[in-house]
Amino acid sequence: MTASLAESAGAPAPSPDTGAYLDHAATTPMTSAALAAFAEHARHTGNASSLHSAGRAARRTVEESREVVARSLGARPSEVIFTAGGTEADNLAIKGIFWGRRAQDKRRTRILVSAVEHHAVLDPAFWLAGHAGAQVVLLPVDAEGRVDVDTLRAELADHPQDTALVSVMWANNEVGTIQPVRDVVRAARPYGIPVHVDAVQAVGQLEVDFAASGADALTVSGHKLGGPAGVGALLARRDLPLDAVLHGGGQERGVRSGTLDVPAIAAFAVAVRDAVAGRAAYAARVAALRDGLIERVHDAAPDAVLCGPDPRTDPELRLPANAHFAFPGAEGDSLLYLLDSAGVQASTGSACQAGIPQPSHVLLAMGVAEDAARGALRFSLGPTSTADDVDRLIAALPQVVERAQAAGLAGTNRGARKTAEHGPANDGLVPRPSPSTHPSSPPAVHSDGSSSSATGDGLVPRPSPSARPSSSSKEHPA
Ligand code: PLP
Repeated sequence: MTASLAESAGAPAPSPDTGAYLDHAATTPMTSAALAAFAEHARHTGNASSLHSAGRAARRTVEESREVVARSLGARPSEVIFTAGGTEADNLAIKGIFWGRRAQDKRRTRILVSAVEHHAVLDPAFWLAGHAGAQVVLLPVDAEGRVDVDTLRAELADHPQDTALVSVMWANNEVGTIQPVRDVVRAARPYGIPVHVDAVQAVGQLEVDFAASGADALTVSGHKLGGPAGVGALLARRDLPLDAVLHGGGQERGVRSGTLDVPAIAAFAVAVRDAVAGRAAYAARVAALRDGLIERVHDAAPDAVLCGPDPRTDPELRLPANAHFAFPGAEGDSLLYLLDSAGVQASTGSACQAGIPQPSHVLLAMGVAEDAARGALRFSLGPTSTADDVDRLIAALPQVVERAQAAGLAGTNRGARKTAEHGPANDGLVPRPSPSTHPSSPPAVHSDGSSSSATGDGLVPRPSPSARPSSSSKEHPA
């Protein structure tokens, strides 16, 4: 076994051999230090809202953790709102800012989001379109997945009074593209329009400083950086109009009620601290491993197309731990299951609708042809990744691609075959909301680029009609 990347700060807790795990962007192991913090605080009873000594001890742990998270991410402690993960923080940002801004001025109904956002941002925005009179503007991206800031500027100039917020992610979870967050903030600032940034994939890989970024709100999640799943935070400026999504006991500045999960928060803070402290060395090592992976995938599968920025020419435009390929002629989930049988775990870029694989909204927004987009695979590295993992992938890949392409050619009745092979009951599919409530289901994007808000779904397409995110019964890569 070659040296593990885990030798840096924030070493992961040892876990049973799971083969070559190349899906760290979905979730990555807890670090030993985070696990120890979790175990220590799980032994203590105490509700952080209680006034007795056990409660005060729990409160102290929460406030110390808040300070650690704030210090690590360039925020003030009072700007840290603990949540139950990235999805909740994104929902709080999109819904809370929308409601808060609209309460100040009822004209503010437009939500500007990049077409490649995670569903944790897209779906609340579309939910608001379906339920609260919002209009969602999908900002187009270029062939590498970078948001078009000129379109954003034009949108803002045309609608300075009726825009509620802008949301653009720091780095994309599928293709690893790093967004021009500073330019987005600069574009919105003259109008006083708040910017939310989903930094779930960025923290621990890139330098993320909330104050320096100029963003008004920023999402971070525990289980992507060595902390537990089900805990995260929204960093939010104190002057940001932000309405509550969860109502109850009034915890977390009154915008996020619910008893605080003290062990998870303590472990999260330790993981954030160590991920940020060890980031530069970790990023350099994982990037070198990833660059080798890309070279070798091209050798092993000459048809493979790298999606997103090429780190060999533009390393600063892509997350260091991310590689993503389209394998034309193959289905992503065939590739995934064949690789899994060979002990290699990766993530497909497709989603399933009624058992039929659908290409990722991210790839379509980038202009990747639908056929190629169907055969997408993401390989994401992490602290436990080794050269052995890459060797294992490369050893399996030629045969896996050949078999998946043969299956793709033979598959005249894809839907029936996929359902029969994998079965909806045990393939981990997550049902999406019903078409009547999920605004991305009805076909409302007009291919001529005209506004579809007349259909009542509130979607205002920008010039990339293919960018419309599809509804699915299976999640896109986390
Ligand atoms: N945003 C991005 C970019 C993600 O990759 C994820 C992960 O799935 C999320 C949000 C959701 O975070 P969580 O899994 O903590 O709910």
